[in-house]
Amino acid sequence: STAVSDIELTSTYRATLPELAVDWEAAEMPDPRLVAFNDTLAADLGLAALRDQVDVLAGQRLLPGSHPVAMAYAGHQFGSYNPQLGDGRALLLGEVTGPDGQRVDLHLKGSGRTPFARGGDGRAALGSMLREFLFAEAIHAPGIPTTRALAVVTTGDRVHRAGDDVGALLVRVAASHLRVGTFEYAARLPDRSVLQRLTDQAIERHHPGAADADVPAFGLLDAVVGVQAELIAQWMLVGFVHGVMNTDNTTISGETIDYGPCAFMNRFDPDTVFSSIDHGGRYRYAHQPSIAEWNLTRLAESLLPLVVAPDQGNVDDAVAEARSVLETFMPRFRTAWEAGMRRKLGLLDEHDGDAELFDELVAAMRDDRADLTLTFRMLADEARRSTQLVSAPLDHGEAVGAWVDGWTARLEREGRDADAVAAAMDAVNPIYVPRNHLVEEALSAAASGDMEPFGTMLDAVTDPFTARPGLERHARPAPDDFDRTYQTFCGT
Ligand code: AMP
Ligand code: MG
Ligand code: MG
Repeated sequence: STAVSDIELTSTYRATLPELAVDWEAAEMPDPRLVAFNDTLAADLGLAALRDQVDVLAGQRLLPGSHPVAMAYAGHQFGSYNPQLGDGRALLLGEVTGPDGQRVDLHLKGSGRTPFARGGDGRAALGSMLREFLFAEAIHAPGIPTTRALAVVTTGDRVHRAGDDVGALLVRVAASHLRVGTFEYAARLPDRSVLQRLTDQAIERHHPGAADADVPAFGLLDAVVGVQAELIAQWMLVGFVHGVMNTDNTTISGETIDYGPCAFMNRFDPDTVFSSIDHGGRYRYAHQPSIAEWNLTRLAESLLPLVVAPDQGNVDDAVAEARSVLETFMPRFRTAWEAGMRRKLGLLDEHDGDAELFDELVAAMRDDRADLTLTFRMLADEARRSTQLVSAPLDHGEAVGAWVDGWTARLEREGRDADAVAAAMDAVNPIYVPRNHLVEEALSAAASGDMEPFGTMLDAVTDPFTARPGLERHARPAPDDFDRTYQTFCGT
């Protein structure tokens, strides 16, 4: 393993896009202390030695090659354009290249005010940083692309949110922090070369195949449409509600980013909204695909200046080509979603009628207000039932119960062993997701110094497919009313 003296960062983003970076330092912190560290992630990146380097994790001491910057970006928030957002409470420390050659950003969130802070205090509360750590691992465990937390550090400061809270920061790892909002910002700068360099960097880092396209900017658009379609399909399949799908929270890499007001939907309801500020339900569960498509349209608009010179006559052609790329989003989303449903339901082959079968299950879960997570585990038990006695009766609702026969008939066409089907289903359908009432319980315990419930929950969601003793509560939905009134918050 790598000694701390051998860890070196690069600053490619700062070097190639100085117009989008402001040199800045983390605020001084009275008493930084490590409260959570991601040993698995650290080992993968060759950063295990940082476990006992809290001053490095807190941005108080810099690793060689690190030139921290606040990143500039714009963004559409709830549909309205904000020309200058940027890292108000965050810093990019630099990039690190892991033993396998993958290059990732190391980033601090909650490290103090920057020139982009506007009215914000630049800080973060312990609960919300632990929340990001937990949800990122819960999204990562079933293989959904996401930024992740390397560490959470308490700063020794107090922050003022709903009350008086423990101040903390998160050390975040991301494929990069390039967002749709970064392109929106660059597209409006008079110096066109910034947008060109940003596009080149995004292609090189995330979508190298786009370099070979006739028009690389459209190659990039096509690639981002593809990874976002795949990402949103995965969210929908596990019941993840992101909660704040602004364009500044939409990555070019296709990773999930910005775990603020997110939560898992439990009882199936397409109108599920948890965010306290999402009054119109813009970012409700069922809207996520069309919102992603809307955000990608903002990316397409931002790329157009690279393709169309101001006084050239090819505007209509370029717009038509961009539109034809954007039109692939919904079919690609749908294909990814159907492939995911096939896996979740233990099916190998594609057959006519599959799409209808899947849509009918969604409708049945909605009619029953069935628990999304447990429904798929129950269906695996249902498959087992055909060959063995299952002692407990299955307690799915009427609509899902009525749907089962069609699925069983569909399974029979493949003629696989029922136990193999059930095992394949259990390998892709989590039994443990962060249940909202238990998340709150774990975070309030952490705020009063008891990290044990958080540790238990993290353990559950990190290995979400295997039922383990002691985690029974984590495999059950919240009391009936809890999720209906549950609220989540941004910027905490
Ligand atoms: P978000 O809703 O997390 O995507 O954040 C939107 C913008 O608000 C970004 O520019 C953030 O950097 C900024 N922001 C959020 N919370 C704070 C805070 N406490 N202090 C300064 N800036 C913040
Ligand atoms: Mg954000
Ligand atoms: Mg946020």
